Amino acid sequence: MPAQPEVNPPALNAPASNETASNGHYPHLFAPLDLGFTTLRNRVLMGSMHTGLEDRASDFPKLAAYFRERAEGGAGLIVTGGFAPNVVGWLKPFGSKLSWPWEVRPHKFITKAAHDGGAKIALQLLHAGRYGYSPLQVAPSKLKAPINPFTPRALSSRGVERQISAYANSAKLARDAGYDGVEIMGSEGYFINEFTAPRTNKRNDAWGGTPGKRMRFAVETVRRVREAVGRDFIIVYRLSLLDLVEDGNQWDEIVAQAKAVEAAGATIINSGVGWHEARVPTIVTSVPRAAWVDATAKIKPHVALPVVATNRINMPDVAEGILASGKADMVSLARPLLADPHWPAKARAGQAQRINTCIACNQACLDHVFDNKSVSCLVNPRAGHETELAYKPVLSAKRVAVVGAGPAGLACATVAAERGHRVTLFDASNEIGGQFNYAKRVPGKEEFHETIRYFGNTLAETGVELKLGTLATPELLAEFDEVVVATGVNPRKVAFPGSDSSTKVVGYLDVLSGRVKVGAKAAIIGAGGIGFDVAEFLTVEDSPTLDKSRWMAEWGIDPDFSARGALLKPQPEPPAREVWLLQRTPGALGKKLGKTSGWVHRATLKAKKVKMLGGVEYLGIDETGLRIRVDGAEQTLPVDHVVVCAGQEPRRELFDQLAAAGKSAHLIGGADVAAELDAKRAIAQGSRLAARL
Ligand code: FAD
Ligand code: NAP
Ligand code: SF4
Repeated sequence: MPAQPEVNPPALNAPASNETASNGHYPHLFAPLDLGFTTLRNRVLMGSMHTGLEDRASDFPKLAAYFRERAEGGAGLIVTGGFAPNVVGWLKPFGSKLSWPWEVRPHKFITKAAHDGGAKIALQLLHAGRYGYSPLQVAPSKLKAPINPFTPRALSSRGVERQISAYANSAKLARDAGYDGVEIMGSEGYFINEFTAPRTNKRNDAWGGTPGKRMRFAVETVRRVREAVGRDFIIVYRLSLLDLVEDGNQWDEIVAQAKAVEAAGATIINSGVGWHEARVPTIVTSVPRAAWVDATAKIKPHVALPVVATNRINMPDVAEGILASGKADMVSLARPLLADPHWPAKARAGQAQRINTCIACNQACLDHVFDNKSVSCLVNPRAGHETELAYKPVLSAKRVAVVGAGPAGLACATVAAERGHRVTLFDASNEIGGQFNYAKRVPGKEEFHETIRYFGNTLAETGVELKLGTLATPELLAEFDEVVVATGVNPRKVAFPGSDSSTKVVGYLDVLSGRVKVGAKAAIIGAGGIGFDVAEFLTVEDSPTLDKSRWMAEWGIDPDFSARGALLKPQPEPPAREVWLLQRTPGALGKKLGKTSGWVHRATLKAKKVKMLGGVEYLGIDETGLRIRVDGAEQTLPVDHVVVCAGQEPRRELFDQLAAAGKSAHLIGGADVAAELDAKRAIAQGSRLAARL
């Protein structure tokens, strides 16, 4: 092993007693972290997220505004989205890369913005390896990834050396651009991880064949990067603690890798969990909060470096608990800082209840990445749009009525009031939240409570007058300068023999609200998002998301993390009911579900033995059950109940009455267009309208 660079040992778990610490709120979270040559102001690392703004230098001013807001919001160390060290490491053709001196200058916008906001910033070096969506991709061995159509070229020994030089060169350029450090991406199944795991490294030369040779690429990369950047530069190494794939690394190999990258000059070890091709969910909303922290805790005694816990840490009490228990030295918040850039500042001020919490839906962030769209956030449409969507104070306040306190109306009312309008919000129901009050009852969707809590507090804070239990009428709205109709949807009814007369036929609202107790056998008509949610509600007795060990057993995760890839045989709990999920469209069900979460829903229902049928014709319902025809063959499903989840229609009575009375109104959310409506569109539409009023 080559001579080690000298890096002063960091002072971990420093007491929160100086002026940079909070006023007693979350003292471990706001304790500075002394890295020897530099100090981070707190323990919040903003985890790397690809926003889509990294790919073109012309977007860097937008990226700088995005980071400026997060730095001003209090993040300690920001890690950028991934930048490839060369073209063969591209995530996609002409994607983000830092390999030439002339690529440095635009980065200075970014580093300045972060520093102006008081944060440190590190550039993530991400070589995509066989995950690169490009014919140029390279890998340790010629093995196609199951999630990529391209097959990589296996590198020669000289080719391997060239990749290491590329990392060192990029890191040096990052330093020139003003970054405080780099994060070397060694997890999630990307290039470095492909070298370390027997699954993807079939080499028999100096770079594969034994555990020591498999990790050599990671260690040499850290060593050469350290040589290139000098002693006083942060090197975060993202270590794959759990590969969650067959033939992944084993725990002793991961420990050896941690020790070796420490010796090679890393400053911080960040946790990586699960390859992109893993069939175990790692970040979606049904993953328990802080599900993976015990893996970080298990590596910590083996190194003297600060270690970072990651994934599903979305509220300050969770973060503080992790740090206070000594399981990690920092916490990584990625999506939570998309949802609320001021998360750290609010926590530090003891205002956790004001945090707009990430509900881990992936709908506007990760799903956008996989759809090649720029990233935003379902609960915060300004994320990634900071320069274009501004909530500017108004010059003259208007009286604004918003009807409907679902996501669209809540977003519209709070943004309009924040800008200075006098806003009254009406809802016929006795609670705010609209359909989110049903969504939050679905097992694994408990986070939806947080959005309702956030909006409740923001209504009070911005001075919105709230009139619950009030069915708005045109007369009630006559005096307002602006009227916004956000009355949502009505569930669509179905029409076939027996559908309107049988007591067996019920709606999803009856089921999710608990008004109807569904029998032991049920059929669900409609396999959209709500049909899938209702199937989970009916088959899962109580939510495993709330109990980490039950959840891990369901997905076959070794609680001790010692099995290869940390995988054991999944042990799903038996279904609470026998359920059929049906749709008229032929083919597989759930095709329109989110790219990064749909597979989790499908796998969950499969494990609960839900029978999913496409191409169904509904013939009728009687005492014997639901009669259907599939592929020309008739059958009767012997069910106690048929739950209708057949989509939604706009609820427009009020809007039509206003139009008839000659009063103009704005129409948003489900009341505007119900087809393919989701909360992302509802909140964005409400916020964008309020920004213009
Ligand atoms: P709604 O939420 O329907 O709110 C309309 C409100 O208007 C209601 O509170 C109603 O009481 C009120 N109202 C109606 N008429 C009047 C009147 N005349 N006077 C006063 N008040 C009135 N979306 C996602 O993006 N992701 C998900 O994971 C997701 N899961 C879901 C799970 C379930 C079980 C359900 C039911 C929905 C889910 N959705 C999800 C959909 C999402 O909840 C809706 O897209 C969103 O709620 C639509 O918002 P909205 O404000 O337009 O309407
Ligand atoms: P949806 O996604 O439009 O699905 C409706 C389902 O009903 C389809 O499977 C459709 O399939 C069926 N259907 C439509 N008309 C029918 C009819 N006349 N008779 C019988 N079946 C009929 O709507 P949804 O499930 O009600 O969801 C509403 C919105 O909430 C969605 O747009 C979704 O975005 C959102 N949501 C999202 C999530 C999420 O996890 N992201 C979860 C829940 C809800 P066939 O036409 O093939 O029969
Ligand atoms: Fe979190 Fe959903 Fe926003 Fe992504 S879109 S940051 S998962 S709330």
